[in-house]
Amino acid sequence: MEYQSTRDPSLRASAAEAVLAGLAPDGGLYSMPSLREISLDWKHVLALDTQGMATEILTALLPSFTKEEMRALVRRAYAGKFETEDLTPTVRVGDDTVLELFRGPTSAFKDVALSMLPQLMTAAREKCGVTDEILILTATSGDTGKAAMEGFCDVPGTKIIVFYPDGGVSPVQKAQMATQAGKNVCVCAVRGNFDDAQTGVKNIFAAVEEEKLLDGRGVRLSSANSINIGRLAPQVVYYFRAYANLVNEGAVRLGDPVDFVVPTGNFGDILAGYFAKELGLPVGKLVCASNANNVLTDFLATGRYDKNRPFYKTVSPSMDILVSSNLERLLFLLSGDAALVKRLMAELKEKGAYEVPKELLEKLHGLFWQGCCDDAGTKNAIGLVWREYGYLCDTHTAVAWDVAQQYKAACPVHAPVVILSTASPYKFPAAVLEGLGHSAKGDEFDVMEQVRNETGVPVPKNLAGLREREVRHRDVIDRDGMLDYVLSKASQKEWF
Ligand SMILES: *Cc1c(COP(=O)(O)O)cnc(C)c1O
Repeated sequence: MEYQSTRDPSLRASAAEAVLAGLAPDGGLYSMPSLREISLDWKHVLALDTQGMATEILTALLPSFTKEEMRALVRRAYAGKFETEDLTPTVRVGDDTVLELFRGPTSAFKDVALSMLPQLMTAAREKCGVTDEILILTATSGDTGKAAMEGFCDVPGTKIIVFYPDGGVSPVQKAQMATQAGKNVCVCAVRGNFDDAQTGVKNIFAAVEEEKLLDGRGVRLSSANSINIGRLAPQVVYYFRAYANLVNEGAVRLGDPVDFVVPTGNFGDILAGYFAKELGLPVGKLVCASNANNVLTDFLATGRYDKNRPFYKTVSPSMDILVSSNLERLLFLLSGDAALVKRLMAELKEKGAYEVPKELLEKLHGLFWQGCCDDAGTKNAIGLVWREYGYLCDTHTAVAWDVAQQYKAACPVHAPVVILSTASPYKFPAAVLEGLGHSAKGDEFDVMEQVRNETGVPVPKNLAGLREREVRHRDVIDRDGMLDYVLSKASQKEWF
């Protein structure tokens, strides 16, 4: 029993139970009380290849599994699936290092975690003696759905249904999902916006739980959402990978700090950096980069979280978020006080705002730096980085690059800087092309071609030829039809 709810220390779970459940029964997130007690020989870990690092780090964070079991799960998750053996390569761009997290099967950084989660979930199912099939439900605004389908594709004992807003995702994202292969995957458009799809999924979980709609049917629901500890833990690995690369290149001496700049939405990616630091890696400052939705910039500066503000649709849509779920884990780990976290989360729900105590704010200031960058700054950064360094970055990475320059200007005595790059530029081709100083013509596929002609940077395999691939999924339903859709799918043994 190593995990507990961030809101109630009496709600405990093993790592395997936490992975299987996703969320604690009181709505809190599962967390260890402290990461300091974990013993991990971080210097030894730095000498391993990326799969070896993943095995050591994941066994330390999820001790329900033995090292041998974890080694097999890691191999199944990653072997042959990414463009490079090291999974997440680093590239020198000017004075900084860019850590490329998008070299996976769907060209999204979410591939790193969503390749591993299905393996952890099926292994957890076995550990907990659960024989039910796991049915994953996910609402997506684009990237998560595709990465989740690819991760769960043909994983035994699991099925996945993805809902997306009809007309609410980009043509490339829609084509990525509609052409997804696999006997156990299903994607369905919902007439409505993303919130309708997301609320629909939450209502299905509640109805199935309350009315016992799936009891005795050999199926249970779960979620591939980023609040699951099984999605967070695999992200710790690439901080070690990046640090080891810098040491091997002679850019940093073993033991000296490295600063990381992270384009942040739900606070999962940057929290993994804090985990790496707690496990011993010499992480200097963690720099939180936001777009125009800068609720985190204000929070980290002042200690007051306030989501009562306008919501902007930006060119970096994966960061368009006003409630960053994983922040709750950080508040818990820094305060060690579940009662405090419970109170703050209740205030967030009731008033949309809360303020942390002064001691907690001081701890935040010691660990983090923060900045934001709007759409004009984002496009400007894309053009500047291309002209100066010949490096093509996507919109989310451009936000981080811009904030990294702000950070270095504000704190001249800083460690070597690693910028986390979370998407291929070809996933947001129109804004990238504008950043390069050209206007987009035709549909998104034409614009991808324009970017390639302009830069010569190759289009990732999974995105090239997408327009010609066979469409397998065409369902479109009303939002009040979602529950019936799921129940009907749950009663079908074979989907294809
Ligand atoms: C999800 C996502 C992010 C934000 O990551 P969090 O873990 O939610 O903070 C940033 N960039 C891209 C491209 C993403 O898909």
